[in-house]
Amino acid sequence: MNNNLLKGGIVTLLLLALATIGLTFAQQRPTLTPEQLERLTIRPVPGKAGLYLMPGCDGNMSGGNIAIRVTEEGVIIVDNKYSYSYENITRQVASVTDQPIRYVLNTHHHFDHAGSNASFMPSAQVIGHENVRINMLRNSGPSASPDGAPRITFNDKTSVHLGDAEVQAFHLGCGHTNGDSVILFPDLRTIHTGDLFIWGDRLDGTTMAPFIDYANGGCAGDWVATLDQILALDFDTVIPGHGPLLRKAEIRIFRDKFEQMVTRIRTLMNNGTSRNDIAAALDISDLNWPLAPDRVQAIYDELSQ
Ligand SMILES: [Zn+2]
Repeated sequence: MNNNLLKGGIVTLLLLALATIGLTFAQQRPTLTPEQLERLTIRPVPGKAGLYLMPGCDGNMSGGNIAIRVTEEGVIIVDNKYSYSYENITRQVASVTDQPIRYVLNTHHHFDHAGSNASFMPSAQVIGHENVRINMLRNSGPSASPDGAPRITFNDKTSVHLGDAEVQAFHLGCGHTNGDSVILFPDLRTIHTGDLFIWGDRLDGTTMAPFIDYANGGCAGDWVATLDQILALDFDTVIPGHGPLLRKAEIRIFRDKFEQMVTRIRTLMNNGTSRNDIAAALDISDLNWPLAPDRVQAIYDELSQ
């Protein structure tokens, strides 16, 4: 092994160790630079009056994107980052409106999207798909506090009407988990997709890839069909689960990449590639989605059922 390879190996090990620590202590508040804090500060969504974004671009440090809809009768927010994020969210929302946060919608149960549900409950209604509640109650530990399980749940669709706004939540099938919702602001033609659609790099510069949470009912096989249903909705502006503000065209790109990934795995399986060999045989370098071998094997397991 030459020196560079050795160095590369050590760096990889260090990064893996850091990633593990990050996951274990994900609920601890990270120290962010002024530049990072600026990137994560609430801002108006251009051209969409009354809609704001509190950005988030990863699971470990910045959490998920929060959409904030301000009306003259109160505020509706979509997602709420980590268990320690409540004060930060309420402070930032108070910087753009005097109205109280009255409704909190969850795109799914993960700790980086629904982590501060419990803190909002005394003053707001928290609403999620029925599997958000079931997953939170089943999972223990900081990743899903049972205290934060939504008290109001729905199956396929629900709406919140507040002031002059209607906000619609749709459960369109499985994908990232079995409890994913997309949240549509129909009058503003804007959607928050949760982690059914993510895009770009984390704060640390590494690239996000779709995550199938098999322990919570996620699936690769139907994810594209779920995306097709999202694309059938009427919107032009997209707030992904993590990543920058985007357009409908980027969901189509993501959908096509996902279809490519699943098709290539299926083709290898049809040609007799074994579970042990599937990750090494799969070439998805052109998709720019770093997928660990065990995650490719998990997709293999799902598709072989
Ligand atoms: Zn998630």
